[in-house]
Amino acid sequence: MLLTVDHLSVFYGSIQALREVSFTVAKGEIVSLIGANGAGKSTTLRALSGVVRTEAGSIVHDGTSIAGLPSHRIARLGIAHVPEGRGVFGNMSVRENLEMGGYTRSSREEVEESLEQVFGLFPRLAERAHQFAGTLSGGEQQMLVIGRGLVQKPDLMLLDEPSMGLSPLLVSEIFRMIAEINKAGTTILLVEQNASMALAVADRAYVLETGKIVLEGMASDLLEDPKVRAAYLGDETG
Ligand code: ATP
Repeated sequence: MLLTVDHLSVFYGSIQALREVSFTVAKGEIVSLIGANGAGKSTTLRALSGVVRTEAGSIVHDGTSIAGLPSHRIARLGIAHVPEGRGVFGNMSVRENLEMGGYTRSSREEVEESLEQVFGLFPRLAERAHQFAGTLSGGEQQMLVIGRGLVQKPDLMLLDEPSMGLSPLLVSEIFRMIAEINKAGTTILLVEQNASMALAVADRAYVLETGKIVLEGMASDLLEDPKVRAAYLGDETG
C-alpha cells in the first residue's frame, strides 16, 4: 500500500472531527472520500499532510510513519496537498505560483521540467504564464493550484474539493485532468461533495459520516448502491 491510515482520530479542541478512521490507498489508484458537509473529509487530508495534529492512530506512507511530522517534511516525502478554496498568490504571476511548488525539488532543471509538464497539461495556464494569478477565472485558479501540487512531483496527491464553485463544464474538465494526472503515474486521494463525479473517476471510495467511515467499496458498486444514491446522489427513488 502507498498509504495506510489506521484508527486515526483528530480533535479540534473538544470536538472530535475524526473517529478511528481507517483506509488504504494502493499505488496507482484514485480513491475518493465522499460525505456531507462537516463529515471530516478535509480534516482527513489535513491530518495526512501534517496541517492538523493527530490525536491517535497511525499514518504510513510508502513504509514510513508520517503522523506527527511537520508539513514540509511530509511534502518532501512525496505527498502534495491541494487544499480547498484555491489559495493562489493573487499578486504573483501564474509562473511564480507554480514555482512555489518547486520547493521540494532539488534542482532548477527539475522544476523547469515540471513546469513544462504542467503547461502541457493545462495549456490555459501556459497562455497566462505571466498574468497575475488573481486575474484568473475560478476554473483557471483551480488548475493553477493542482499544477502547483504537480510541480512538487508527488507520488500521492491529496485533492480537496476541486470541483467547488465551478460550472458543470469546468467540473468535467477538471475531472478529465484528474484522470490524466493519475494515468501519468500519480496516485490520488480525492475529497468531494460532488459524489457522482468523485465515484465516476475513482477506483475505490469510502463514505464518511460525522467523522467515521460507514461504507467502502469499489466506486462502481457504490454508484449503484441504493443507500449511497439516496444519501449522496440525490436519488429519491433509490
Ligand atoms: P466540508 O465539505 O464542509 O469542508 P468536511 O467533510 O471537509 O466538510 P471538515 O472540514 O473536515 O469536514 O470538518 C469536520 C468537523 O470538524 C466539522 O464538525 C467542523 O465543524 C469541524 N472543524 C473543522 N475545522 C475546524 C477548526 N479549525 N476548528 C474547529 N472545528 C473545526
